Amino acid sequence: MNSGGPQRQLPETGRTRHRRLREQGSLDRDRLDAILDAGFLCHLGVTVDGHLLVVPTVYGSDGSSLYFHGSVASRSLVASPGAQVCVTVTHVDGLVLARSVFEHGVNYRSAMIFGTPRQVTDPEEKLAGLRCLTEQAAPGQWDYARRPSRRELAATALLALPLDEASVKIRTGAPDDGEGEDAGLGLWAGVMPLRSVWGDLEPDPLLPAGIGAPAHLTQRVGTAANRAARRQAP
Ligand SMILES: Cc1cc2nc3c(=O)[nH]c(=O)nc-3n(C[C@H](O)[C@H](O)[C@H](O)COP(=O)(O)OP(=O)(O)OC[C@H]3O[C@@H](n4cnc5c(N)ncnc54)[C@H](O)[C@@H]3O)c2cc1C
Repeated sequence: MNSGGPQRQLPETGRTRHRRLREQGSLDRDRLDAILDAGFLCHLGVTVDGHLLVVPTVYGSDGSSLYFHGSVASRSLVASPGAQVCVTVTHVDGLVLARSVFEHGVNYRSAMIFGTPRQVTDPEEKLAGLRCLTEQAAPGQWDYARRPSRRELAATALLALPLDEASVKIRTGAPDDGEGEDAGLGLWAGVMPLRSVWGDLEPDPLLPAGIGAPAHLTQRVGTAANRAARRQAP
């Protein structure tokens, strides 16, 4: 996870200071980048008309900002610029099955990002942000598929959230009650790993004969869906 160089730290703020299970918490910037690189789906929390909305949405990370997009009519995107938001990204790696129900848990990698997004209006930055979003989910598709038209760009809102205030939490390993009183119960305990893997491609039934899937898609079949595939892709 660490690139091997000096550890890059995120600043600790009142919001990002871990309070509970601090040993799982981290402000390591490389860990944040690894979690963001491994996914493309986040939950965007924002207050709209006095109500809290938590919206699942795709993102792209260029290492300094997170980009979100959607319809210009999307209430969460309209409310977000200039407002405080909290974004979470979560990868579940397994169930931690302890001897007691109390000690059950989840192995995971998660990130929380706080800040105030801005609306991206500069046409070049908007295209770059949309490229970042597209490539995050489907590396290679930006150059393969038709790019957005002017009309499509006008109908699309793009927000950029700086990656300046964020925290990470990671749990790995076995249950925590292997050495406690419950160890004598004679119950099985351990981890049930959860792996998300890209499945076989399902061609559009309307696809004319002779159009095969491009290599950047076929190469991903069977690979882990939440392990920074875009960095490992050739
Ligand atoms: C898949 C999954 C399942 C979980 N299930 C449970 C559960 O059932 N019960 C439970 O108590 N906890 C669970 N957690 C952990 C939970 O996310 C919180 O870390 C924990 O509950 C502490 O919450 P708190 O309100 O006391 O946070 P605090 O420790 O007060 O949070 C302070 C700051 O720490 C950082 N922080 C806290 N949690 C996270 C996080 N997950 N990722 C990144 N930064 C974080 C944030 O910056 C936050 O503002 C789960 C986490 C994941 C990813």
